[in-house]
Amino acid sequence: MNLCNPRVIRELMAEAGIKFRRDLGQNFLIDPAVPDMIAEIASPSPDQVILEIGPGIGCLTSALAERYRRVVAVEIDRGLIPVLEKTLAEYENVTVVNGDCMTVDLADLLSEAAGGGVPGVDFPVSVAANLPYYITTPILLRLLESGVRFSHVTVMVQKEVADRLAAEPGSKDYGAITAVLGYFGTVERCFTVSPGSFLPPPAVSSAVVRIDLYPEPAFSPLSEKTFFDTIHASFEQRRKTLVNALSARFSDVGKEKLSEIVVSCGFSADVRGERLGTGDFVKLSDAIVRARNGV
Ligand code: SAM
Repeated sequence: MNLCNPRVIRELMAEAGIKFRRDLGQNFLIDPAVPDMIAEIASPSPDQVILEIGPGIGCLTSALAERYRRVVAVEIDRGLIPVLEKTLAEYENVTVVNGDCMTVDLADLLSEAAGGGVPGVDFPVSVAANLPYYITTPILLRLLESGVRFSHVTVMVQKEVADRLAAEPGSKDYGAITAVLGYFGTVERCFTVSPGSFLPPPAVSSAVVRIDLYPEPAFSPLSEKTFFDTIHASFEQRRKTLVNALSARFSDVGKEKLSEIVVSCGFSADVRGERLGTGDFVKLSDAIVRARNGV
């Protein structure tokens, strides 16, 4: 069955009595080269368990199942489950779960599908997905903060979001999510995909990015919470200088001390947050922790 053929997709959906749900970001791939390319770069090793978010009617799922040990696909739309049972019937290494990727217990799900063990420790896991665009950043943050040690996260997102994820400090696209991602791994922008590759076509272009997660933490902030708070505070009001933005969040430290801290980290007192890389935010947040502790 050619799952990228628009006629096949329409027939499968008509048989199941369902329609495309815009509210769930349902734009299905119709260019067969794209799921193959995503599956190809998702991991260098075939013994990985792959978590797919939003399998739709299963075109990427089948490309992943051909290459990797096991695929666990989480789909929120109950109406698509009977379709997936049909389109993926020939693959014994696929587990389809009806659920919301924002609330399911990812570690439990992966462990159960793999026959036990801790995902990322006892067996390697990665993520591959054509993400629903209404919820891209929350999904990425949930994956990274889930505690599951994924090796790679390969996702299709809106082109503008891909630009932001892979931006360099100081560029116009650099933001809180870029600095947060830098804590967990490195980001590579892989290729772009035009709206005509989807049914229905989205209003914007898309791009695939791959995040290679550090196997061991590359940074060790004194307080992870203060580190993330520092990043979010620095980008909340982009027009403000870093010192003013931090003063709004860390009023207990005080503007004068914060100004001293920014300068002691090697920046001018009027620098803006978008100039700082992930390592700079670690230095800055460590200095804030020390100032709070009176050290
Ligand atoms: N993988 C398919 C493809 O590439 O053709 C479909 C991708 S479509 C852009 C996004 C999919 O994510 C849809 O099937 C949608 O129902 C599903 N989805 C949306 N929100 C979700 C959520 N919170 N949890 C799991 N799946 C979700």
